[in-house]
Amino acid sequence: MKLYEGLCLFMLIFSLSCSVSTGDKNETMIHHSDAQKAAPYAIAIHGGAGTILKEHITEEKEKAIRAVLDKALETGRKILDEGGTSMDAVQQTIIVLENSEYFNAAKGAVFNHEGKNELDASFMDGKTQNAGAIGGVSNIKNPILLARAVLEKSNHVLLTGKGAETFADEVGIEKVDPAYFRTEARWESLQRAKDKEAKTGFKFDQGEDFKYGTVGCAALDRHGNLAAGTSTGGMTNKRYNRIGDSPIIGAGTYADNATCAVSSTGHGEYFMRYVVAYDIHARMAYGKESFQDAANTVIMKTLKEKGGTGGIIGVDKYGNVAMPFNTPGMYRGYAKPGEKKIFIYAEDE
Ligand code: ASP
Repeated sequence: MKLYEGLCLFMLIFSLSCSVSTGDKNETMIHHSDAQKAAPYAIAIHGGAGTILKEHITEEKEKAIRAVLDKALETGRKILDEGGTSMDAVQQTIIVLENSEYFNAAKGAVFNHEGKNELDASFMDGKTQNAGAIGGVSNIKNPILLARAVLEKSNHVLLTGKGAETFADEVGIEKVDPAYFRTEARWESLQRAKDKEAKTGFKFDQGEDFKYGTVGCAALDRHGNLAAGTSTGGMTNKRYNRIGDSPIIGAGTYADNATCAVSSTGHGEYFMRYVVAYDIHARMAYGKESFQDAANTVIMKTLKEKGGTGGIIGVDKYGNVAMPFNTPGMYRGYAKPGEKKIFIYAEDE
């Protein structure tokens, strides 16, 4: 009998404690969502680094470029502010930049030597370390969507050319006539690059910047997850199916929730050789450097000393933003709760 009474008492206490804890749970959930609303978020973007000088850009064009940068930033900021994921923020932000003819990504991409647009893109999820990338595609309207599909729907990391386009058909990614990407400004740029090549033997990256305009985005969401993505047409007058750093995980793009999310822009050959985005992560992970220090050292020292031009944008796991570059300018911007900035030239900051 005593055992029975004891059991009854135990069950009574147990059921009472369950209802209390259910009450607690609800309260915890409310606190949790409050905490989540207050949790930090941050987003950073770039639209390419290079010889971007005030005297080269009309006031009207600068205004138009700033408006697209603002629209892109605002698109991602809103997603993050409302509690959306960094993956979605990066994707939607990059789509705005890809759809603008001012940047060297998708619409407005540079031309290769044969007069075609070959597009590269990559995407990385800092939470899972999953990554997806595509190189040398010529009819994908938004390459960043295909990079994300490789990340989420394939067992691979990097697909190129026709194979990548076949995969796009299988997963239902929108294709366009390659003529969609053409802009007269990029076409003329190819002609100038070819003239220069005929006269001097230089293929690209001399004097006039034949590449700037790559786009990228890195974001931290309110759930503490980082993501980064990059999209580009590569370099004007490129040949032999050249692929740069933009679709190379670790060079053009990297994200790890333990450290930071980074997107690169610049002379891709250098970014690949110095594994720029990963080097920044590694300095933080193993050397315990701050994001700002790690990013500055890699761009302003490691890369610069070797003659590598360009920059990165990124955010770390706390929501700190870094945007170093060693060129005269870099289209860039960032947003955090209650804060939004867009810059073009070095002297802007
Ligand atoms: N990094 C790109 C490439 O080398 C170009 C750029 O970012 O300007 O393809």
